[in-house]
Amino acid sequence: METHSLSAVELAECIRKRSVSALEAVESVLKRIEQLDAQVRAFVTVDADGARAQARALDEKRARGEALGLLGGVPVAVKDNICTRGLPTTCSSKILQNFVPPFDATVVERLRAAGAVILGKTNLDEFAMGSSTENSGLFVTRNPWALDRAPGGSSGGSAAAVSARMASLALGSDTGGSIRQPASFCGIVGVKPTYGRVSRYGLVAFASSLDQIGPLARDVPDAALLLRVLCGHDPQDSTSADRAVPDFLRDLDGPIRGLRLGLPREFFGEGLSREVEDAVRQAIETLRSAGAETLEISLAHSEYAVATYYLVATAEASSNLARYDGVHYGYRSAEAGDLYRLYAATRREGFGAEVKRRIMLGTYALSSGYYDAYYLKASRVRTLIRRDFEKAFQEVDVVVCPTAPTPPFKLGEKVDNPLEMYLSDIYTISLNLAGLPGLSLPCGFSSEGLPLGMQMLGRAWDESTLLRVAQAYQRRTDFHRREPKVSLL
Ligand code: GLN
Repeated sequence: METHSLSAVELAECIRKRSVSALEAVESVLKRIEQLDAQVRAFVTVDADGARAQARALDEKRARGEALGLLGGVPVAVKDNICTRGLPTTCSSKILQNFVPPFDATVVERLRAAGAVILGKTNLDEFAMGSSTENSGLFVTRNPWALDRAPGGSSGGSAAAVSARMASLALGSDTGGSIRQPASFCGIVGVKPTYGRVSRYGLVAFASSLDQIGPLARDVPDAALLLRVLCGHDPQDSTSADRAVPDFLRDLDGPIRGLRLGLPREFFGEGLSREVEDAVRQAIETLRSAGAETLEISLAHSEYAVATYYLVATAEASSNLARYDGVHYGYRSAEAGDLYRLYAATRREGFGAEVKRRIMLGTYALSSGYYDAYYLKASRVRTLIRRDFEKAFQEVDVVVCPTAPTPPFKLGEKVDNPLEMYLSDIYTISLNLAGLPGLSLPCGFSSEGLPLGMQMLGRAWDESTLLRVAQAYQRRTDFHRREPKVSLL
């Protein structure tokens, strides 16, 4: 049976009611991967045998009359910077190409406990540094809507897999937009939870004060379901919050009448493509017709967000990536006259250009004599950015804006211009600096048929309201129901 076109909520329900088996569900997506992934290239590793074995075990469990869990039998793809026991976890980097973790990340444990089937690992920009998946040290992923376009990044493989129906759901990570921007480019829903909501244990660290794992899904209910499974306190991550997790799925269908939506002036200005702006404004009208009120707000310091991010994130990255030295695990250079040469040659050969650029920038920003001028100053601006949001959320319940300034760009178009690439995250980065939750959802198509996304930003711990507004929108529109044909435009 072809189950790949069912949503995760529908599929879990079919499996629970025994009209579909977990094995059938896995076979359906494996076939899809076989048909499409030679072109899309979303997956770094497809664990076909492992997925079948997990599905059989679930079917046996079901036959014994046991409950399977919220995601019982649903095939899920995992971004390849999230550790999976016994399955390679490469971060799409040569330096970790042969790394097989001896443990599961907490989110992967939670998926397994909820009965999900781990299908495989998806491509990303090396160590999640990028916005197009072109910085992958392995290969480039293509956008299923148009194979000559970028799927976005860094969770481009996960977004492409869900969009092309090669997985029901996927995990991404978002440090500066890496869940929301690829969700927007691939026409799906992506949620970046509040910092501390989801455990980072087993997520290979890029910038620890910004990183957060979250769901990529076809629609809002699917995202709510996966988010529910991922959230919860984890003693293994000292930044994980001990807070009650709402039943996101149950709370979804409430009214939005009277909710106040803020439109940040700074996010509708220069650099925003006309098509994206029109689609987002149209979507805002739809929300107004559902009873929401809108008002203009200001996030005055957002013009400094990209600069601030590229100091904070690179400083943390330079420290986090110091551990790849060729000694404990991962790639080791054959050129090892002495310890220093081993470190230097391993890192020179193992890291790609963008990762090296970030390590150098971060090391510089932290070095004595420059620390106050760069890192400290960036930390202060970060506080100002957070305060802008605090002020805004005194007046409004949700902030609505574009996810990315343009429709999906062409592969190759920005790779040689890092600054231009960095600017594609101009609307997503402030949220990470403030530690708040955000979501991207499809809100239209460009004249060329490319997906466009809108973003909703919320108060800390208030993912529920974001999902409710997003669901109110999806109940009135059908952009999220369209499937890519997977071909060249
Ligand atoms: N594109 C941004 C960067 O290159 C954000 C990446 C991310 O969120 N992981 O750093």
